[in-house]
Formats: sequence, C-alpha cells, structure tokens
Amino acid sequence: MKVDNLRELLVEELKDLYSAENQLLKALPKMAKAATSPELKRAFESHLKETKGQVERLDQVFTVLDASPKGKKCKAMEGLVEEGSEWMKEDADPDVMDAGLIACAQRVEHYEIAGYGCVRTYAELLGETKVAALLQKTREEEGAADEKLTKLAQTINVEANEEEDEDEEEARPARGRKKASKKRQLVSR
Ligand code: FE
Ligand code: ZN
Ligand code: FE
Ligand code: FE
Repeated sequence: MKVDNLRELLVEELKDLYSAENQLLKALPKMAKAATSPELKRAFESHLKETKGQVERLDQVFTVLDASPKGKKCKAMEGLVEEGSEWMKEDADPDVMDAGLIACAQRVEHYEIAGYGCVRTYAELLGETKVAALLQKTREEEGAADEKLTKLAQTINVEANEEEDEDEEEARPARGRKKASKKRQLVSR
C-alpha cells in the first residue's frame, strides 16, 4: 500500500489504535478478574469504562476525517495482550500476580501514550483542531491510567516482596526464607 502523505499516515496510525483499543476491551475484564487487590480491580474496571469512551472518540475522529476505522490489526497490542494472558496462567502468589498484572498493564499504557502522542501531533500539523483535541484527551487519560498504576504498585510491589504467611513470619523471623527457597526452585527447574 502506498502512503503518500501525513494525512494518510494519520489514518493508518488511527486504525492501529482503533484495533488496539478494541483488543483491550476484551482483555481488561480478564485482568480485573485476575486481580486480587480491590483497588487494582477497580482500576482495571474504570479503565475499561474509559476505553469504551476512547473507542467512541476514535469513531468521532474517523467521522471527521471521513475515513474507515477498519482494515488493520495492531500486532503489538496482540503481543502485549498475549503476554498478559500467559502471565495470568501462572501459579503466582496473589500479591505477585497483582504486581505482574501492573507490569503488563503499564506496557500497554505506554504503548498507547506513544501512539496517541504521534497521532495528536500529526492532527495538529494538519490543522485538524477537533481531531487533535479528541486525541489529546485520550492521551491524557492513558497518562493518568499509567500514573494510577504506578501509585498502586507502590504498595502492591511491597506486598509482593513480603512473606505470604504472616503467622509463619512470626514463628520464623528469618525474613524472606520462603521466597528464597521458591527462587531456588525456579532456578533449578
Ligand atoms: Fe486506551
Ligand atoms: Zn497499536
Ligand atoms: Fe501497532
Ligand atoms: Fe489505556
């Protein structure tokens, strides 16, 4: 396919984002289900709601540009979602599972931030003010979602680094023993 100008590149990139967002609509409920922390569950659920709005915003953008959202599959998001699915199949400690879910989700948010930043800038250059504003709004939501995950990680990562059984912790003050032996198992596998 020949892509002659920035407007056509804008449409191609928007199709990619449209595919990415639609893949996330299916992945986020699974991530919410896999999360144990109620705050993390809520974060995924509220980002699912936001994502629905982002798809609607993209629909508006395609209408303004008189283009079709169809015809592209975002392979990067397919890969990120696949990595998330693989992680959710692991037999992980609940806190460790949550920490890993955050790691997957932050990769997704950063991908989206990069994508929306690019298309927003193209739209500005092309004088598509309305489109640029819609894309900037989503760019900000993705940024806020990423920041929220960073904030949740500040407690969840610490919990993932603690002994899982508190009674055991009292009986056996040598911290990290259980995790250490787990680590050895992993290495020797
Ligand atoms: Fe999104
Ligand atoms: Zn993409
Ligand atoms: Fe892509
Ligand atoms: Fe997002």
